[in-house]
Amino acid sequence: MSEVTCKGIFLICFITVFAIRFYFARLVKQNKVVDGRVSALENLLLFLTFLGMFILPLVGVFTPWFEFAAYDLPDWTGWLGTVVFIFAIGLFWRSHTDLGQNWSASLEVRENHALIETGLYQYIRHPMYAAFWLWGIAQVLLLHNWISGLSYLVSFLPMYLLRVPQEEQMMIDTFGQQYLEYTTRTGRVIPKILFTLSRFLSFSKE
Ligand code: SAH
Repeated sequence: MSEVTCKGIFLICFITVFAIRFYFARLVKQNKVVDGRVSALENLLLFLTFLGMFILPLVGVFTPWFEFAAYDLPDWTGWLGTVVFIFAIGLFWRSHTDLGQNWSASLEVRENHALIETGLYQYIRHPMYAAFWLWGIAQVLLLHNWISGLSYLVSFLPMYLLRVPQEEQMMIDTFGQQYLEYTTRTGRVIPKILFTLSRFLSFSKE
């Protein structure tokens, strides 16, 4: 796959993800926040991810500034990146529809917040962050550049490591035993394989 095609596919997927995000952000706008835990550090990390997921890849696509940091990958990796990105978009969309009115871009509990344990959330606790990891991998495979290609993974890692324990603590404070039990059945971004298998088997019996 040529470099121009890779960049074009990246851009289409990139625009699709942001369109999904804006659409769902509008839907929850009216829903009141009752517990917000956004710290200065979280804001700094959010800004870093914004650089890595938004600014740097766009600079890489539209300017020659990062050309000195380009790397070569075999042709097929472009196709693999495309498949991974499309899968990430599917996960991203589905996690938004599963979370519905309970979604927030940051650490927040909303009025009448419900714990979602269905859809993707019956297998993993963080499907949206799983989608972000896949998006980061797709970016490496589609933008062949040490700066604009890797920027997502590098900026998302500290965000993920800080955010997930805090988010889970917030959910434990809000839902107590119900969330603790939920964590025993689910993985963070990778399903607990035995539990998932037993769910599939019981589905196929019905
Ligand atoms: N970490 C999840 C959700 C990201 S959105 C994922 O990756 O899919 C972040 C917000 O979702 C948090 O502020 C929290 O209020 C909410 N949240 C996270 N898990 C939830 C769940 N299982 N049910 C309801 N709300 C949840």
